[in-house]
Amino acid sequence: MRVGAIDPRSDDCMEWQGHRLPTGYGMLHGPDGEHLYSHRVSFSLIHGPIPDGMVVRHRCDNPSCVRPSHLELGTHADNAADKAASGRTQVIEPPNEHEVAAIRHLVASDRWSQGDCARLVLGDGAAQPMVNRLVQGKTRKNAPGPLTRKGRGKQPNRRPHLEDT
Ligand SMILES: [Zn+2]
Repeated sequence: MRVGAIDPRSDDCMEWQGHRLPTGYGMLHGPDGEHLYSHRVSFSLIHGPIPDGMVVRHRCDNPSCVRPSHLELGTHADNAADKAASGRTQVIEPPNEHEVAAIRHLVASDRWSQGDCARLVLGDGAAQPMVNRLVQGKTRKNAPGPLTRKGRGKQPNRRPHLEDT
């Protein structure tokens, strides 16, 4: 695991030092190029596969943390209850400005499906029907982030491939 310098005897958070999403969750690529949450990988390395329908939760409330002892299995309902209790945005509520921008940037990068982008930013329980309208600017027109013309198609002003070389 790619983590910062830590004292193994301490119980401090082990923060993921690789790519992080705007929400703080660490991300890495699996063997087939699929994207994986670093805390889920950390959990399953120690405890085995994550059962269907279960989520890996942070006891420490630090999304970047991958210390196995700070992670536990839970349900989407647990997560929603936690977020409500801590005053954070619930998944079922509309995404905030940062989340809208993050989703739009991810979709514009054209690497993942819209559903995957929504799950990456909003968590495993995210509902995706609104994403298509979101990235086209049909909803939340004044929120930041690049708009995508149609579906997950390419941006019209995308640089030609030749210039990339
Ligand atoms: Zn932690």
